[in-house]
Amino acid sequence: MKIRLWLTILFTFITAAILLVFAAYIYLSAKQSREKEFYNLLNKEALTKVNLFLNAHVDAGTLHTIYRNNRKILNEVEVAIYDTSFNLLYHDAVDLDFVKETRGMIDEIVKKKEIRFYQENWQVIGISYHFKDKDYVITAAGYDEYGYSKLSNLLTNICIVFVLSILIIYLAGWFFVKRAFAPVSEITRKVKNISATNLDLRLDTNKSKDELSQLSSTFNEMLNRLEDSFDAQKHFVANISHELRTPLSAIITELELSQIKERSLEEYKTVVQQALSDAKKLARLSNSLLDFAKASYDLSEIHFKALRLDELLLDAQLQLQKTNPDYDIDILFEKEFDDDDLISVKGNAYLLQTAFVNLIENGCKFSPDKQCVVAISFQEANVILKFSDKGIGIPPEDLSHIFVPFYRGSNQKMAEGNGIGLPMTQKIIALHKGNIFVQSDIGKGTVFTIEIPHL
Ligand code: ADP
Repeated sequence: MKIRLWLTILFTFITAAILLVFAAYIYLSAKQSREKEFYNLLNKEALTKVNLFLNAHVDAGTLHTIYRNNRKILNEVEVAIYDTSFNLLYHDAVDLDFVKETRGMIDEIVKKKEIRFYQENWQVIGISYHFKDKDYVITAAGYDEYGYSKLSNLLTNICIVFVLSILIIYLAGWFFVKRAFAPVSEITRKVKNISATNLDLRLDTNKSKDELSQLSSTFNEMLNRLEDSFDAQKHFVANISHELRTPLSAIITELELSQIKERSLEEYKTVVQQALSDAKKLARLSNSLLDFAKASYDLSEIHFKALRLDELLLDAQLQLQKTNPDYDIDILFEKEFDDDDLISVKGNAYLLQTAFVNLIENGCKFSPDKQCVVAISFQEANVILKFSDKGIGIPPEDLSHIFVPFYRGSNQKMAEGNGIGLPMTQKIIALHKGNIFVQSDIGKGTVFTIEIPHL
């Protein structure tokens, strides 16, 4: 069911419930007041007749005539007067005698002074009356035709007004909900037009800062992020193609040149060496890209376990020294510790080792002495690793870009690379809920600090 229909029905239902309570209250109070008023009328009629009969000595014949004449026009009250010994002194309509008085009823009236009850739809009142040292009992009965007809009119009107109101409320609700939801329909229409090719489209927002405007702003912010991410992806792909194309073109050119004419053995060796070096570059790049992709996985796809970071650093050192025997890598503990947990983290061994290899390799390759020192320490919550070198340092203007994929600093001439190492390292550390900081002085060296929560 559409929200619009649902809201309209809910709105109508709630209003109908309130109206119903209201109508029931009006009807019931009208009903009560009719009953009360008619008992009062019976009381007055009874007293008037007994006064006429006992006090004004109007004879029974005259009273009968008044009664019969009145009955032709309206539902006259039927009055009977008894003495306390159940002797009938006067009766308006002995022929009708609607209320059959009994001895017991008379005694009850004497005892209670007044009784009220219904006989069929007729209301009956019995009262005791004291006149000149004698007690009398009067009964008066009547059918409140006027009151009942007023009540039934009221009920009909209430029903008509109720049904009409519900109809009007439903239509009004439908109209207002439509108006209220018009911006949502507009948003839906616009969002349908947004696709990967026109991510620059934005939803309108107004100054009122209402919920829908906030929704549009939030959606626009999401589009901004998506557009940025799409742009970043495009650049990433463009960068990869560029990085792949350069060594590939070099290999092709070298091989083509060597093919044009017969070369000496020495020349062939140089070409093969050059092609091999370019091919290695390509292999390095594809490995880095693979690692970068792994570091971008969802957390749930990566296997985590408890790891000692000093062991991972030793593995990284071994890995690097195998391919670069000239690298001088020192690993030292800054603090003594009894508990292994202080230098252990819950992590992925492959990814962390890849990050450490990259930082150590950077330290060595950007330092004339090819030296990198890794210091292990810890705080209350984190293991802290410092990768220091005494190399050429990073220019301040490069510092804010070195974590951007494919960015290589102005010092890049010193060493080969592809600009993926640091962004990948940052991703890996973030996956381990850690942080990475850099501090560098030109000509003095660089320190990368990593903090990762320990066990
Ligand atoms: P790559 O090392 O392949 O160029 P990275 O992402 O690892 O790519 O590093 C990005 C850039 O940051 C490097 O090109 C270099 O300019 C700078 N850099 C990183 N580490 C160091 C370091 N220890 N000393 C000097 N410059 C560094």
